[in-house]
Amino acid sequence: MRGQAKDLSDCNTCFIYDEGERESGLEANLRLNSLMFAYVRVIGEKMFEGAAPRHQLSFDNPPRPADTRAMIELEQACQRILAVLAPLPPEPIPLDAAVGRVAAEPILSPIDLPPFDNSAMDGYAVNAADLRSARAEAPVKLELLGQVAAGQAFAGKVRPGTCVRLLTGSAMPPGADAVVMQEDVRLGATDPPQVLFGEAVKPWENTRLRGEDVKRGAELLAAGDRLTAMRVGLLAAVGLKALKVARQPRIGLLATGNELVEPGQSLPAGKIYESNRAALAALLTAAGALPRAYPVVPDTLAATTAMLEQALAECDGLVTTGGVSVGELDFVKNAFEQIGGEIQFWRVAMKPGKPFVFGRWRQRLLFGLPGNPVSAVVAFLLLVRPALLRWQGATRVDLPAHSGHLAESLVNRGDRRHFMRVTVDPSGNVRSAGLQASHSLGSLAAANGLVDVPPRTPWPAGTVIRVMRLDF
Ligand code: AMP
Ligand code: MG
Repeated sequence: MRGQAKDLSDCNTCFIYDEGERESGLEANLRLNSLMFAYVRVIGEKMFEGAAPRHQLSFDNPPRPADTRAMIELEQACQRILAVLAPLPPEPIPLDAAVGRVAAEPILSPIDLPPFDNSAMDGYAVNAADLRSARAEAPVKLELLGQVAAGQAFAGKVRPGTCVRLLTGSAMPPGADAVVMQEDVRLGATDPPQVLFGEAVKPWENTRLRGEDVKRGAELLAAGDRLTAMRVGLLAAVGLKALKVARQPRIGLLATGNELVEPGQSLPAGKIYESNRAALAALLTAAGALPRAYPVVPDTLAATTAMLEQALAECDGLVTTGGVSVGELDFVKNAFEQIGGEIQFWRVAMKPGKPFVFGRWRQRLLFGLPGNPVSAVVAFLLLVRPALLRWQGATRVDLPAHSGHLAESLVNRGDRRHFMRVTVDPSGNVRSAGLQASHSLGSLAAANGLVDVPPRTPWPAGTVIRVMRLDF
C-alpha cells in the first residue's frame, strides 16, 4: 500500500511506513501507540509517511504464540481475533439499504423531534386558563375560530375565549397551551360556532412538545452502533437520507469434502448433501458480510491449495468448513501454509467446534470451521460472527442473551465446555433441543438458544442460566 504523508496530530493510530525508520527512528510498519507518538513528537518530527492506517489488520498485539497448535480458551480465541481487526473503510449508503450495517461515525440530530409543539389527540386547542372554572353543570363556552389539520399551520391566534379544532399531529396554534379531547366536549351554538367544555385542563395536557423526544444536536447513533429497523426509522424521522457505514467484508465460503454432493442432485451411496454453505451464507448475510460461495473442494492438497489461493485473492476473508481436523484427508491448514498463510491458532477448548483454525494471509483472514454442521454453525456464531461485526466497526459483537431457568436437567459429562442447543419458551423455561451430537442438524434447527455448560457439570432442573439467542 502506498504511503501517504500524515500530520502527527492525525497519527496516533497510524503505522510507520517504510520511510519511518530513517525519518523518526522507528521501525517500518510498526503501529504507533501513544508512547511512540510522544517520542516522535519529542524528536521533533512533524510529518512522516504513514500507510493507510486505520483499516489495516494488526497482527502484533498480542504476538502470535510460539505454539499455534496449543488448545486455547474460547474467550482467548475471540480476543485474539478481535485484536487483529480494524474497521473497514467507510462508505455512504442510502438509509433504505442501511439495516444491519454499522454507523461509521456518530449521527447527531439536525432537528428537534417533534419539530414543533403539536396535538396528541383529535380535539380542541385552548388556553388552559380559560377552562379553570369549567364544571359539568357549568360548562365554559369558547368561540371556535377554525380547524388545523395535520400538516397545516394556523394563521391566527387563540385569544382568551376562543379555541381551534385540531387533529392528531396538528401544530399547536399560537396562544394555545392545551388540547381537550373531542370526546370531552359538546358543540354549542353554530353562529358564531361554540364549543362547551365541562372540565378544566392542565397546561400542555394532550400535547407533544417540540424536542421532547429528541433534541437537536443529540446523538442518535454512536459510531459502532448497528442499524436496526427502528434506528432506520429514527434517522428518517429527523430527515436523513443517507449515512456513512463501514464497508461490508467480502467473505468467501468454501466447503471441503469428497463426500459432499450439491443439493438438488441425486445422492450416490456413501455421499451426503453439502449443507454448510447454505447455513453459513445466511449467517454471513445476517452478520452484515457479503458471502461468496465457491464450488465444493475435493479432499486433495492440490485442489484445496488452488481454491484457497483463488478465494483469498477475491475476498477479504474466508470461511471454510471441514478438513481442519487430524485426519489424513484434512488439508486446509496444510494448504493454507503452503500458499504463505500464517496460522494464528488452532483448536479451541469447546464442544462442538474444537478444531477451529484462525489464520492470516497478508491482510486477509482465514476462519477454518470444522465440517460437522453443528460445529460449523456454533463456531461461526461464537468466533466468526463477532469478528465480522467488529470488522465493520460494531461495538457490540456478542450474541443477544438473557437469563432463563432449566425446566429439566442438563448434563455435560465431558471435559470441555459444551454449547448445548436448547429451546427457550416466552416464560424463560429452557429445555434441551434434542440430540446434542455435532452432526445433528435436526436439534440445531429446533433450537432457539445455546447454553454454555461447563465441563463435568450436572445442572439440575431449576438452575438459572444464561441463554444466547439463535433467533436474532
Ligand atoms: P471434517 O471436519 O471434514 O472431518 O468433517 C466432519 C464431518 O462433517 C463429516 O461427517 C463430514 O461428512 C461432515 N461434513 C463436512 N463438511 C460438510 C458439509 N459441508 N455439509 C455437511 N456435512 C459436512
Ligand atoms: Mg472432511
